[in-house]
Amino acid sequence: MTKKRLAILGSTGSIGTQALSVVVAQNERFEVEVLTAHSNADLLIEQAIVHQPNVVVIGEESLYDKVYAALDVHHIKVYAGDEALSQVVQMDSVDLVLTALVGYAGLIPTLAAIDAGKNIALANKETLVVAGELVTQRAKDKGVNIYPVDSEHSAIFQCLAGEFHNTIEKITLTASGGPFRGMSRDTLIKVTKAQALKHPNWDMGAKITIDSASMMNKGLEVIEAKWLFGLKPEQIEVIVHPQSIVHSLVQFEDGSMKAQLGLPDMKLPIQYALAYPDRLPNNFERFNFMDYPNLTFEQPDLETFRNLQLAYDALEKGGNTPCVLNAANEVVVDAFLKDKVGFLQMSDILADTLQKCTFVKRPSLEDYIASDAEARRIATDKI
Ligand code: NAD
Ligand code: MG
Repeated sequence: MTKKRLAILGSTGSIGTQALSVVVAQNERFEVEVLTAHSNADLLIEQAIVHQPNVVVIGEESLYDKVYAALDVHHIKVYAGDEALSQVVQMDSVDLVLTALVGYAGLIPTLAAIDAGKNIALANKETLVVAGELVTQRAKDKGVNIYPVDSEHSAIFQCLAGEFHNTIEKITLTASGGPFRGMSRDTLIKVTKAQALKHPNWDMGAKITIDSASMMNKGLEVIEAKWLFGLKPEQIEVIVHPQSIVHSLVQFEDGSMKAQLGLPDMKLPIQYALAYPDRLPNNFERFNFMDYPNLTFEQPDLETFRNLQLAYDALEKGGNTPCVLNAANEVVVDAFLKDKVGFLQMSDILADTLQKCTFVKRPSLEDYIASDAEARRIATDKI
């Protein structure tokens, strides 16, 4: 069997490192062609020596000399800077691009990969939040498949196997509720970065962990789901499920519901996206009913966790609004991680930025780039 050759953008992060562990376990199926990292040169070098990609990219140009000095002797090509990402994803030798980098930075390289006809395993949900219409349309035009890595969307995608011709009535995205589930606004005023970074069920990068604590992650996922599955906002429901065992559900027009279940472990959705349409044997820990005698479900609290409501509103308004929301969110999360704003202030700044930013109904790529910059300016001014 010929191996699938992977470009892993963001290989040093939470998804990137787990993807590499999947590659190691399934080494007769996959090989690594490209690895990229933003600033963790040491780990990138270590990964490159183990996986022997053709090319690596280090985002921070000042780290180029260090990475080159370490990898040239291994005959691994080294590039630096953001533009290199868009070039390496287009290489003939790449079969599939895993977008495991975080934030808006994923948009341009994902579009470049689509333009080159590469299928995408998409972890970088921000790409679809910012420019879902443009990205999914371009994928359609190019005949490119986008395989979701996000666990909820992977669950929906798995439930849809063999059902793509059937009409979806609605989908239900499950949310763990994060570390602050059930807390009041009075308590949330005082929560710290350290508390927010302790997710009960998942070990993830800092940005998505804060997004999970604020429920913004679920808001971004609602927008992501709209574009992945071609749904209307009112067809996408969120339910809080603290055990994170039911990863999401689809309800068809006959009322039948399908769910995908398993222990919370991102390696499974990563493997499914990389190997699609095949399921591969593995040694991941298996679910045991007796460990979870009670699976529970609650309504999300949209008044306390305003971000989820802001995301629904942004989706409803459409145009560049989700792009603005995403940009402002990246700014406030970064500020929260630097102790510059409080937990609840993040939503206040988002709401203000959404009000002040110029609305564009049918944005082009240039409009998205301009809206992202404008929203970052406005949000930064408020910090
Ligand atoms: P992370 O912070 O652990 O890793 C991010 C990776 O992206 C690193 O390799 C870093 O070097 C690279 N990177 C950071 N900034 C960059 C930039 N400006 N340009 C290029 N590369 C850059 O993040 P993560 O938790 O692995 O999340 C990655 C993506 O996957 C996010 O979009 C996140 O929402 C999504 N996701 C993550 C999980 C999870 O369990 N971690 C689950 C679902 C979805
Ligand atoms: Mg998710």
